[in-house]
Amino acid sequence: MSTQNLPLQAPADGAFYPAAIVGFEAADVGRYALRSPASGEVIAEIADCGSEQAKLAADNAQRGFESWRQTTAFERATLLKAWHRAMLEAKDVLALTMAREMGKPISEARGEVDYAASFLEWYAEQAKRIDGDILPAQHREKRLSVLRQPVGPVLAITPWNFPAAMITRKVAPGLAAGCSVIVKPAEQTPVTAILLAQLWQQVGGPAEVFQVITAERPAEISDLLMADARIRKVTFTGSTPVGKHLYAKSAATMKRMSLELGGHAPFLVFDDADIDAAVAEVMASKFRNGGQTCVCTNRVYVQRGIFEAFAERLAAAADALRVGQPEDEATQVGPLVSQAGRDKAQSHIDDALAQGARRLTAARDLEGFFVAPTVLADVTPAMQIMQEETFGPVAPLVVFDDEAEAVAAANDTPFGLAAYLWTRNLGRAHRVSEALDYGIVGVNDGAPSVPQAPFGGVKDSGIGREGGRYGIDEYLDTKFVSTRLDG
Ligand code: NAD
Repeated sequence: MSTQNLPLQAPADGAFYPAAIVGFEAADVGRYALRSPASGEVIAEIADCGSEQAKLAADNAQRGFESWRQTTAFERATLLKAWHRAMLEAKDVLALTMAREMGKPISEARGEVDYAASFLEWYAEQAKRIDGDILPAQHREKRLSVLRQPVGPVLAITPWNFPAAMITRKVAPGLAAGCSVIVKPAEQTPVTAILLAQLWQQVGGPAEVFQVITAERPAEISDLLMADARIRKVTFTGSTPVGKHLYAKSAATMKRMSLELGGHAPFLVFDDADIDAAVAEVMASKFRNGGQTCVCTNRVYVQRGIFEAFAERLAAAADALRVGQPEDEATQVGPLVSQAGRDKAQSHIDDALAQGARRLTAARDLEGFFVAPTVLADVTPAMQIMQEETFGPVAPLVVFDDEAEAVAAANDTPFGLAAYLWTRNLGRAHRVSEALDYGIVGVNDGAPSVPQAPFGGVKDSGIGREGGRYGIDEYLDTKFVSTRLDG
């Protein structure tokens, strides 16, 4: 059964989606049921692959790499551009798929398709800029050159919170560099990944160069592929514990690793801020995707002089958010992805309230995996919400008095992915952004991610960068060639 001949459609009524692996036989694998987080209903059946399919995918990826590496950058760019166009043409199907798989509000899901597709376009252009160097030699008869070559077959493991963008941010630079890629999508969002493979094949992309392997429990697949020396690079986005586990395993076959892990983003609002503008940026950073974003604000520090005014306006804005069904155009906050996700966010609220926090937003009568957008004041560092990533629509507020105190509090975490600040003082903007121990800083900007910029963290938030010219370096090896002309 091949993915190429399937109709391109969003999951509904339990339709079966085979894995996008060349030679895949549906009869060889079990299936798992994919349920909507909004309704709990089964929307699709997914191939539950294991080590046999992982081996098949690796064999294909090796073969695919041998031919793909021979293509010119211009040929690769042409295919990536065609894929980009196809993705935008399929925007409605892809957006509906994400709304159904993980509960992303449909209007946001369309925005994700645009964002995800932008990596295909950007790396189509960047493919043509993979150049090398000619170095000066000590001897007249020598020529010294530096080549940059694709690392080889890549395994990309992606999370559910951006089902399309986390794939294209890895696959686009990988393919542009000349690597083949196997994607192992999150078990909650396999269909988006399979549709992306269908689109790739429809525009003429070789099926063994970009494959998708699905599974309900990923360990069997990843154990096999981590031990396979033909896989030369692993790029992972997900939680810090799983990232550390894979990093440890990578040593055995000395793979190149990129790890985009968890965050605990602080947002510092100084008392020279335009309060309404600061509230708007905190809203964008905190409540997008229901708070299920690794760069989401997790802690809001507000200077004492504006604390009450800021807190009141933020709570009013959170109370005005429309919570509802993901497929409803008016919905701004959908359900969280799972029972575990809902329970974690709710437990952070309950723990904070039990330890003396004040809820500034109205309670809502919600069922299932929905959590009411919540703003909390009087939050202290000991509360769970200040220690762990919440991944839900909850904004805890903390008062501070001066810049040094705010920076120290912001840096007091093992994480270092994204941080934000709001100030109109230019000197402070520079000082604070330099002092924050984070990979990404938004100054008066709650949504800094763009395809041309490096995205990634420090400390427990990971290693490596995705996006921009930095992102393609992760898929290239550097080779030095020294040639004697008189040899
Ligand atoms: P997760 O780590 O549970 O899962 C991520 C992926 O890893 C999934 O594909 C999953 O199937 C796979 N996985 C799980 N266990 C595995 C194992 N033992 N071996 C191989 N693969 C395994 O994380 P999640 O809950 O799905 O995603 C949310 C996390 O991802 C959050 O911590 C979030 O901050 C992080 N995230 C980070 C970024 C970033 O760019 N830094 C972006 C989005 C999400």
